[in-house]
Amino acid sequence: MNKQIPMHKLFVVIFMLAQITTAYSSEWVVRDAEIMGTTIHTEVWHQDERIAQQVADLVIQTMHEVNQSMSPYIETSELSLVNKNAATEVLPVTDELYAVIDHALHYSQMTNGAFDVTFASVGYLYDYRNAVRPTKSDIQQQLQGVNYKHIVLDANRKTIHFKQPQVRIDLGGIAKGYAVDLAITRAQEHGVERIFVSAGGDTRILGDREGRPWVIGIRHPLNREKVIAKIPLVNEALSTSGDYERYFDEDGVRYHHIIDPKTGDSARKVHSVTILGPTAMDTDALSTSVFVLGAREGLKLLESLEAIEGIIVDNEANLLFSSGLQNIE
Ligand code: ADP
Ligand code: MG
Repeated sequence: MNKQIPMHKLFVVIFMLAQITTAYSSEWVVRDAEIMGTTIHTEVWHQDERIAQQVADLVIQTMHEVNQSMSPYIETSELSLVNKNAATEVLPVTDELYAVIDHALHYSQMTNGAFDVTFASVGYLYDYRNAVRPTKSDIQQQLQGVNYKHIVLDANRKTIHFKQPQVRIDLGGIAKGYAVDLAITRAQEHGVERIFVSAGGDTRILGDREGRPWVIGIRHPLNREKVIAKIPLVNEALSTSGDYERYFDEDGVRYHHIIDPKTGDSARKVHSVTILGPTAMDTDALSTSVFVLGAREGLKLLESLEAIEGIIVDNEANLLFSSGLQNIE
């Protein structure tokens, strides 16, 4: 019998080989940048390397855009204008800023105010770099501005108004996650199916690395050399909040950048929280939320949410996993 492979099959085989060679002939494109007070890192792959280059640039540009509109430190940012004028006016805002603040309020309701972007009404009195913190009476004074219920959004008109003159918003607990998601969406629009984007503690991954998952190591908050868990990830977002990011110690007490809105003081029930979920805006807001809530209430919240998992290191250095992760260690 003639063992010759029929022509059409041969064609398929050769065609497939050609596909595989091109699949791995193009390189991963890597970019780093310092934006939003943190390190942005992206790795992009596309069969056409020029597209990967363009998308890597687009990721960095997206971070700049979000920073320009949502940074409270840039005087001309849309958020700064809101902070300046929303108590005296009903201000129209862009769909983008509206959506992020609306999402933040959703988490405030879900956490009974543990996540609250108006923490900034007292939060701005801290300067971690220069070890400056407010006095008890400064805190009492400014706590009057801390309540997400002071923010009034109008969904039809897309406006914002503050019911209290001391209110200030800071989106540091949610905007980086938003920016990472926006970068991923834009990458997808350019046909990219494999990409890694991180902005400080907020990461999102699309696809795999040459057939293998990305493996993300989570550091121990008290011993940065030690990795507490290695998690294989494909199509997932991951955020970490820790008390070792921006802080100073005074008389054995740590003052750091995650504030309990009820007290105006740093939240001290845990050392770090890592959240896994489908989108970075959600994992970002949830890592900050669970940090403030503490291990017991935080785990309860995580168990009630679909497709969300978490790892907590509490203030006695106990390692706690949500039920979906208990076999991962
Ligand atoms: P980072 O990646 O900056 O460490 P986190 O996700 O841990 O961010 O969030 C910390 C940031 O969240 C703070 O720098 C501050 O801007 C903001 N933040 C602090 N406390 C709260 C709070 N109770 N609710 C919402 N946002 C907060
Ligand atoms: Mg967060």
